[in-house]
Amino acid sequence: MKTDIFDSRMALLRAAFGDKMFDLARSAFIWKSCQTLTGDEFTKITDHFLSSMRHAPLPSDFQQAANQEIRSRRNAHVDSDFTEILCRKCQDFGFLQISEKNRSLNQFKIYCCCSCQRGLKVFGDERGTIPILSPAIESMFNHAPVSFKEFAPEDTSGIFEQESFVLTRSLLNKMQYWKGQKEMSAGFWSDFKH
Ligand SMILES: [Zn+2]
Repeated sequence: MKTDIFDSRMALLRAAFGDKMFDLARSAFIWKSCQTLTGDEFTKITDHFLSSMRHAPLPSDFQQAANQEIRSRRNAHVDSDFTEILCRKCQDFGFLQISEKNRSLNQFKIYCCCSCQRGLKVFGDERGTIPILSPAIESMFNHAPVSFKEFAPEDTSGIFEQESFVLTRSLLNKMQYWKGQKEMSAGFWSDFKH
């Protein structure tokens, strides 16, 4: 955001809530938590404060609102990525979970790369150990797209702190889980070949 937008919005807030509430120290805090927003996003936040708050918003209110904006920006990006699904088989994840024909998918979760080859990006160097769904594999196993929930941490609070991406406990647990799943799959496929 350009400083002139910040300054003009702060002038409106000062006019509405009083200069005292936006002194140098507070304004510096607010700038720090909002500087990465676009002018439109900052305008949206301050419009909301001006139209709905009886008392002056605190720097922490700005920080919260800024985090919310950044989060919804990311979600909008994810949504737009997922509006058009090109591979129905894997829902564009690039890999599938499979199970032996006589077991349910929940009992036996092994990953393989989808034949659309999008998964090769995800598995990178491991693609040698995690095969692509070939007709032979397809005929031997049940397969289903992997649920998005598998990758989302249960608690998303604090992940997108203002300028950086924070590894929260919940996210770390999920990454650990995902690493375990990949290792289990790689192990399964290396045994499977012999
Ligand atoms: Zn696919």
